[in-house]
Amino acid sequence: MEQVKPTFITALFAAACLLSGCSGDSDIARKAKLKAVEVIGEAAQERMPDDVAGGFHKIPIEVVELGKDVYQVMGIGNTHLINTSAGSVLFDTGLVIQAAEQIEKLSPYASGPISHIIVSHSHADHIGGVQFWQQEGTEIVAHRQFAEEQRYLMELEPYLHQRNRTVFPWLPEKLPNIPMLKYGGIEPTITVDYKDYQFEQGGVAFHVLSTPGAEGADNLSLWLPEQKILFTGDTLGPNFPQFPNVFTMRGEKVRKPIEYIATLNKLIALEPEILAMSHHEHIIGKDAIVGGLTRIRDAVQYVHDAVVDGMNAGKTVHQLMAEVALPEHLELTQVHGKVSWAVRSIWEYYATWFHFDTPTDLYPVPVQDVYAELAELAGSSALLGKAGEALDNGQPVRALHFLEIVLEAEPDNSGALLQQTRAYETLLERAQATHGNNYEKDYMRALIQANQAKMAAQKGA
Ligand SMILES: [Zn+2]
Repeated sequence: MEQVKPTFITALFAAACLLSGCSGDSDIARKAKLKAVEVIGEAAQERMPDDVAGGFHKIPIEVVELGKDVYQVMGIGNTHLINTSAGSVLFDTGLVIQAAEQIEKLSPYASGPISHIIVSHSHADHIGGVQFWQQEGTEIVAHRQFAEEQRYLMELEPYLHQRNRTVFPWLPEKLPNIPMLKYGGIEPTITVDYKDYQFEQGGVAFHVLSTPGAEGADNLSLWLPEQKILFTGDTLGPNFPQFPNVFTMRGEKVRKPIEYIATLNKLIALEPEILAMSHHEHIIGKDAIVGGLTRIRDAVQYVHDAVVDGMNAGKTVHQLMAEVALPEHLELTQVHGKVSWAVRSIWEYYATWFHFDTPTDLYPVPVQDVYAELAELAGSSALLGKAGEALDNGQPVRALHFLEIVLEAEPDNSGALLQQTRAYETLLERAQATHGNNYEKDYMRALIQANQAKMAAQKGA
């Protein structure tokens, strides 16, 4: 990505903004906020490895013409602009740290004031520019569930940030105290329910579709019927076609598989000719789009049905995680959502957290509580021997179970740390060689890095 080096003035703006908490709504305050978050963003991006999260941050911020009077500026999250004779409509607004550059590049294409900003959902990489694009009288269109999704993301921000830092250790230790970097503060003026919302602006028809079930309950898509362009935000995830994140390993609330299948059916029926997601490049061609949507729908249905059948047949969640795989004709990339995690997610969506495997799950005494005594009884060298055997047999997860027993008793056991690192490396290599799931790869890398730092500190001590 082209790096815009902060000038002295930018740095001053940023400093002033940080000191004042970036309050106020004047033009100068807005510019100061924009510059401040841009500087923070540049600093964060410099620490990011090239291929983290699939390399989103390496996407150049450039404007692409998608159709007549329809533009997209790319970035970590894309921003879309649709011109009409009575103002311009935006769909999604990217991540706040890129808002300054996206606005600079896209706003010259706007034919008039911003009449509407439609936000696909409450995630930070879609709402970041709202407060900078918003003008007097701009309608903010969001799903009825947007407020609730925004609420929980805001209330749990410290928890979510620390958890995200476990997977992405380059994130700052504390979120900078700038309201723009945080969730919240967006008040929709028009909310869309499960019924869709249609409006006409300057002779252009806009169909705002409720498409829940993917990245949250508050997903909206936008359909331009005249040009057959479909904007999906994150309804289809960042890649197309892909196996969806029926749930994410990074957490978040329930996603409903059957609701998602209904969403996909709604999109298939439109027969779109251009598909613009809010990440990565757009897709052209009805056959490719409808074919991809159909495959995603059938893959989700297949996994869903396999889980339900397995549950009814008395199989455990772990058996099904190991067994259920997409048949060849439904194969999809798992870089974003992983089939075995979807299996577990669907299981727990229906049966929740208690699996009737062991009554100990009903009480706040985890199995880890007896690990230290187990390690003493077995002896750490015997356990390390078993872990080594498992590693040699290509069973890194079994190895991790043995090693976690040792490390509970002796957190600094260097032999255990070394083997644990080897197990993570094996899992990383496997992920790279097979499904390539980005979350799994990023997490394994972070775990390896943490262990290496621990071992280096031991050597230095
Ligand atoms: Zn996103």
